[in-house]
Parts: sequence; C-alpha cells; structure tokens
Amino acid sequence: MLPLHANAATKLEDLFQHIDAHQDDFVQSLKDWVAVPSDSSDPRFREQLIRMVQMTAERIRTLGATVQLVDMGLETLHGGQTIQFPPAILAQLGNSTDKATVCFYGHVDVQPAKKEDGWKTDPYTITEINGNLYGRGATDNKGPVLAWIHAIDTYIALQKTIPVNLKFIIEGVEETGSPGLEELLKGHEEFFSDVDYIVISDNVWLSRKPALTYGTRGNAYFFVEVESGKKDLHSGTFGGIIHESMRDLVYLLASLADTAGHILIPGIYDDVAPLTEEESKLYESIDFDMEEHKNNTEVNTFLYNTKEEILQHMWRYPSLSIHGIEGAFAGVGTKTVIPSKVIGKFSIRQVPNMKIPVVEKLVKKHLEDVFAKLNSPNKLKVSLEIGAMPWVANVDDPQYEAARTAIRKVFGVTPDMIRDGSTIPLARTFQDLTKKKVIMIPIGGADDGEHSQNEKISRSNYIQGTKLFASFFLELAKLHEDLQKKSNSNQVKISQRIRSQT
Ligand SMILES: [Zn+2]
Repeated sequence: MLPLHANAATKLEDLFQHIDAHQDDFVQSLKDWVAVPSDSSDPRFREQLIRMVQMTAERIRTLGATVQLVDMGLETLHGGQTIQFPPAILAQLGNSTDKATVCFYGHVDVQPAKKEDGWKTDPYTITEINGNLYGRGATDNKGPVLAWIHAIDTYIALQKTIPVNLKFIIEGVEETGSPGLEELLKGHEEFFSDVDYIVISDNVWLSRKPALTYGTRGNAYFFVEVESGKKDLHSGTFGGIIHESMRDLVYLLASLADTAGHILIPGIYDDVAPLTEEESKLYESIDFDMEEHKNNTEVNTFLYNTKEEILQHMWRYPSLSIHGIEGAFAGVGTKTVIPSKVIGKFSIRQVPNMKIPVVEKLVKKHLEDVFAKLNSPNKLKVSLEIGAMPWVANVDDPQYEAARTAIRKVFGVTPDMIRDGSTIPLARTFQDLTKKKVIMIPIGGADDGEHSQNEKISRSNYIQGTKLFASFFLELAKLHEDLQKKSNSNQVKISQRIRSQT
C-alpha cells in the first residue's frame, strides 16, 4: 500500500490537471452567470436577480446536493410599494459523521453597472483582455462562488470521494447590506448545528501575492448635533450677539483627534488588543509596496513611515474620521448665513477588543465635557447611528492551517496573513450567530475593482482559486482526521485515568 501522503499527492495532481483541462468550460460558466444583470439595488432588475438565484440553486443541485430555497419575504421600496426579496439558498452535500463539514457563504447579486459609467466593455458580457475577465460580478462574488462549485465538480468528474461534507448559504442581497440574513441564520440553527467551518470568499488579496484574511475593523458612526435656534440668521445683523452653533460644533469636532491621527477621547485605546510578538511577526513578510500605495492614494505622505506601522494602523488600531457637516453652507460663493442647526458626522473604525456600548459612552462623555467648558446655551445631542463590530480569527485554527498549506501547494508561496481595514459585518455575524470557526479565503487580485467600473478577475486567479478550494478540502480533511484521533485518544486517556483512580 502507498503511504497516505503519496496517495494524496497523486490525487492533487489529478485534480489540478482536470481543472486546467476544463478552464474554458469554467470561464464559459462565468460568462453565463455574469450575463444575468442581478443588480440587487434596482427593483427593475428584480426578476433577473431572482432568476440568478434560481440558476445557482439549479447548478448546486447538479452536484447532487439537497437544495432548499428560503423565502426572504417582501422588500418595501421608498414609495411604499413592496416587491419580493430573492430567496436564499441553503444546500447540503454529504453528511458522513467522520468528515468535517464546511459551509460556504457567497452571494450572486451585483453592484449596479452601466456601460456609460465608464466601462471599457459591456459590463454584462465577460470580455477577456490580457488574461483578465472583465464583467460585473466577475470577482464580487460570482467568480469565487463558481470556483467553489467547480472544485466540487472536479472530485465528482474524477469519481473521487469528496473529503469533506459541504453546505452552502447563498444570498441575493449582499450588496444592499444582507437584509434578513440574521433572521435566516437564527431561524435555521439546525442547518448550522453540524457545521465545523464557514468559508467566505468575498474580498481580495493585498498585492499580487495570495493572502488569507483574518480580521476586519468595525465601525461606530456618530452624529453630533448643535442647535442654537429655530431659524438661520444673517451674519451682518446677528453676528457678534449670538452663540453660533457652527462655532461650537467646529470646536467639538476639533477635540476628537490631533493632527497625528491620535484619537483624543479619554479611555478610547484602553480596550485595544495589545500587539503580541506573534502578531507583530505577521507584518514583516507581507508584500506591501508603500510607494505604490501612496501613488494610488494620491497623497504626498502618510502619517507613518514604515510598512508595519501603516498596516497596523489600517487594520489593528482604531481610527477616527470626520465626514461632514449637515446643515452647514457647503456651496460655492460667499453666503453669509449663520446656520441654526448643524450636525457633525464622524466615525470610529473599531478594532478588537473595543465594545460598542463602551465606545458610545466614552464618545458621549467626552463631547459633553468639552461642550460644558464652552458655556454655551445651545442644545447638544450626540447619537450613535451605526454600530458594527470588528472581527478577528485565530490564525492557528485548523481552517487557516489547511488554507495555508493549500495555498503553498497551488501557488508555491506562503500566503500573507492580512486584515481588512473596512467593515465587512458578515464574518462577525456568522461567528456570533452560529458560533462556528470562520475563515475568509480571497481568490481575487488587489486590482480587481470590485464595486467600480471595469470589475474583473484574472483567468489565472479564477482557475488557481478553483485549485485552491479543491486542495483546501483535502488539507482540511487531513487536519480534521488528526484532530479527531487526538480527541479520541485523549478520551481514552481520560477514561483510563478515571478507571485507575476508582
Ligand atoms: Zn461581495
């Protein structure tokens, strides 16, 4: 008999060969999917969006999976009329008790796209230029969903046993904030009860090097309102005799952070997770070109000078940004108004282990204290408008170890361990509501332009991504087996100990 690892290696080669040989078919599937304008933000595309979800369900059914379409109810439009939300897909393939169960999350709706917005090609016709497949949804998220399906297909085509049990949760309204997703998760606890790992592949690498994402920042968005009276006044007539709301507000906003980017709200850094030596090491090897990033950003200089500091301040330290002032004069020209009510808008990108209620209390207390010193008779109101939690995973968890090995086998490199500075509530939602281990495995490139014009995925990323998923199943199965053996032998040891004690 062949040793296990040799057997597995041959298998992997077969899988890769099959995927390479069928890459044109896989590109054709992407063409078919991108051709459906499944724009979830525009009710005029609702029929196509529903058709896209049904096509996806059909496709998953061809794998031999049991597929359930869950009714997501009605969406109320701005005018008050209602339309059907697209259904969500819950599917299952395999239920061996000795295999790990992996649930894949994806979405098949897309951002709006019109040729006249500046697309070089028709957004709904996949067009290949220099190895790139241009089209709306190519990378976000139809390409990755198909790559996952094709990875499974490959095992079936080669009549190989799929090494893990598979589940799917696919939705059609991710681009409009996933309304109803939480209720869906809460209402299908039994569906998730035997899931071991949840995989999300809905973001991109940081550079040309493959990456795994293990964290996202949260967001606490505040309104700070100052009101001096009921109507706007003229500065010629009233300037000099009233307490201006705008002056108070500018003072308040200026008190939030200094010019070095440091947040001045007392206590705000208290809960920020300390930087461990282990985490610190992760930044050293990351492929990140500061000069290129500076050029893309079109700024002269950043607040920090080293790669490590820049990455850490994008990902693992909180930041405060002032976004605007509602009610203030913002047009061209020289209007001499004194606004009566102004609302300052700012947000804090929160990081582990900051908690929203604590952040809210600290921000309110700080602004009230500063305002009290102004001795202003104006009315102050501070409110939290959005409170999205950050997410961070343990990079030593089995799903990360398996994905790292899979990447090494497909790409021949160790992936960058990256975070996302923006807020992707999904991972956190899954982690909180299902209590399962979550991983984000991006397959798209840094320059894919998700949400923007000329969105694309490269043929190479799409096909290598398919291989990555196929080999991820194998690696995860191996680790799972080891873990089970370990826990079994621990149980034996414990029962032996109990027996020897009694
Ligand atoms: Zn997406």
